[in-house]
Amino acid sequence: MATTNEQVKCLIIGSGPAGYTAAIYASRANLAPVLYEGIQPGGQLTTTTEVENFPGYPEGVTGTQLMEDLKKQAQRFGADIRMGIATATDFSASPYKVTIDGEKVIEAETVIISTGAAAKYLGLPDEAKYAGMGVSACATCDGFFYRKKNVAVVGGGDTACEEAIYLAGLAKQVYLIVRKNYLRASKVMQERVFKTPNITVLFEHNTIGLFGENGVEGAHLVKRKGEPDEEKVDIAIDGFFLAIGHKPNSDIFKPWLETDEVGYIKTIDGTPRTKIPGVYAAGDVADPHYRQAITAAASGCKAAIEAERYLSNK
Ligand code: NDP
Repeated sequence: MATTNEQVKCLIIGSGPAGYTAAIYASRANLAPVLYEGIQPGGQLTTTTEVENFPGYPEGVTGTQLMEDLKKQAQRFGADIRMGIATATDFSASPYKVTIDGEKVIEAETVIISTGAAAKYLGLPDEAKYAGMGVSACATCDGFFYRKKNVAVVGGGDTACEEAIYLAGLAKQVYLIVRKNYLRASKVMQERVFKTPNITVLFEHNTIGLFGENGVEGAHLVKRKGEPDEEKVDIAIDGFFLAIGHKPNSDIFKPWLETDEVGYIKTIDGTPRTKIPGVYAAGDVADPHYRQAITAAASGCKAAIEAERYLSNK
């Protein structure tokens, strides 16, 4: 049951690079933004180790430090950053209503949705055990640490193929672990995979565990699981990359906004605008393609500029 209502000009939901960048721009534009951090303050980057590809950090920076810096920068201009999770929405009319933690209702003239996405994992206890010690869900972020080493990528879609090809340019040997006997990826991606000499595709293999003393040293696989000729196979690897899809955190917006079949919020013509005036989507929640900190930050910037223009035209 809602108990209190608060009116704001600009509400930002989510605290990854998109949310904080939107907060920097919105506060500098005098929109007095209120930002709710969500379930994972700082977003997905807080689960990675070193970030080496965010411009402005020539020596690299840890994911947590980068997010702390972005947060401080937003606070410096007066952004009101709060703990809390958006649990329900009512975008039927302006001001738009967003319920926080199931009780407080924020009435916002503009809303910037930057709730991100979560990489899917297999659900093995070893994925948690070796988190940041050889297990990753982002080859572009972490591939560099596996130069001239052996790695595995799990998945048979376009992302898995793309990541395998990217890693093949760095690593000595890449295993692509595919549960079916075919790749779901587009033909062109499949051909690239098959043409890359240091990628070995392991069809009909499932991962059942990882092993290693101070980090991943290998994976336990099962070939043709459940079949009479089922076979246990171990591979020696230093890095284990998941590429079995992402889930955008868009469920509470679905009654009002269009999403694609996976759940990414659809935006208009390469802008962060949604079909509801004054409601914007920025970062991974609306981006099935790039999913980088810098592209998320850029779309957060665009969303705040859009919000400012919308309010000044009103
Ligand atoms: P997809 O859903 O297309 O593929 C996921 C893959 O992971 C499938 O091969 C699936 O296997 C496998 N998988 C899922 N769960 C498990 C599991 N528990 N164990 C083992 N394997 C599993 O996701 P993507 O991220 O690859 O792609 C998402 C969308 O983005 C697609 O539309 C894709 O085309 C697009 N994309 C396009 C790119 C491009 O054009 N360059 C690049 C990247 C993505 P199975 O096939 O058996 O279900």
